[in-house]
Amino acid sequence: MKKVMTRATADLPRMTENQFSRVKKLLRRLYANYDRGNCLLLDDGYDPCPCPQLISNTLLCRYFRSAVLPSDQELWGELLGQAGTRKRCAICGALFLPRSNRALYCEDCAGQEKRRKIRERVRRHRAGM
Ligand SMILES: [Zn+2]
Repeated sequence: MKKVMTRATADLPRMTENQFSRVKKLLRRLYANYDRGNCLLLDDGYDPCPCPQLISNTLLCRYFRSAVLPSDQELWGELLGQAGTRKRCAICGALFLPRSNRALYCEDCAGQEKRRKIRERVRRHRAGM
């Protein structure tokens, strides 16, 4: 195996066990260069190089960070510390990345809340208010 951690990795975000397993799931599903556990970006055509992102809980693969991780907004926010932009859902308390400054709820709850408001409006309308 080639040495891939020559640079200092201390500054890179580290994952918790839970986040790491989500990253691995994400990698298997989306990583275009992920080929049976071997990273094609590091493959020199002679000996396959295991994807370093699969064996390390440090976010060291730049390709993964910039191209793969954003597809999981929640994980992306957690790992890359978009702390200022994250909000806690006013209903279920889950962290989410708001699409607008006014967003109060996570996507799930926002959908339910929308339907609830429509139902309410219909009810009021029927009651003649
Ligand atoms: Zn919610």
